[in-house]
Amino acid sequence: MVIPNNNPGCRPIRMLNLAGFLGKSEVNGPGTRAVVWVRGCPIHCPGCFNEQFQPFSPATLIPVDELAGTILSLHGIDGVTFSGGEPFAQAGPLAALGERLREDGLSIVTYTGYTPSQLAAGDDPAIPALLAVTDLLIAGPYVAGLGEADPLKGSSNQQEISLGMKIAIPKRGAFLHPACSRIEFSIASDGTVTTTGFPAPALVEQLESRCRGA
Ligand code: SF4
Repeated sequence: MVIPNNNPGCRPIRMLNLAGFLGKSEVNGPGTRAVVWVRGCPIHCPGCFNEQFQPFSPATLIPVDELAGTILSLHGIDGVTFSGGEPFAQAGPLAALGERLREDGLSIVTYTGYTPSQLAAGDDPAIPALLAVTDLLIAGPYVAGLGEADPLKGSSNQQEISLGMKIAIPKRGAFLHPACSRIEFSIASDGTVTTTGFPAPALVEQLESRCRGA
């Protein structure tokens, strides 16, 4: 299978097309983590939580070294989570970023909508490079209707695979995660609100309706 990778806006290799960034989150992996959302996803799962991140058009283009510097200046994080969008569509720059962050002791969680066998069959040489810097891989497309109690997964078909030494696979009932809820709101100094986690669709609808004043 050929994975359409890193279309417009993501070259040269040390430049990322970023959809979003959060300096501190407790619902995007074990511990407290920064979150890097990349832009562009070719998978198009029905019911995708981050539909606005699916286009590959350039959003915020940022050099890997600059983003690494921003992340390494943060205090009190255990690691970084790569999400999207599809991280393996920007595997090259994310692998470079992950390598730099791991040198400083941060762990890497990578989400992907591809299954492990699709990744194994991918023809982008950067795929193994991103896997090599990933400690915990959460793999598989989002399937609406396949509910999941594990706060790290959107649907039960997704697999958690421990690849590095830094993060063990979270076990049901003994979850490493400090937060019991699956949704988090962050309010930036400019008033921008970032919602992350896996909120129930009914909750999202209710919040959107409140925001519209309905
Ligand atoms: S893989 Fe993730 S970002 Fe891509 S469509 Fe599916 S849920 Fe959305």
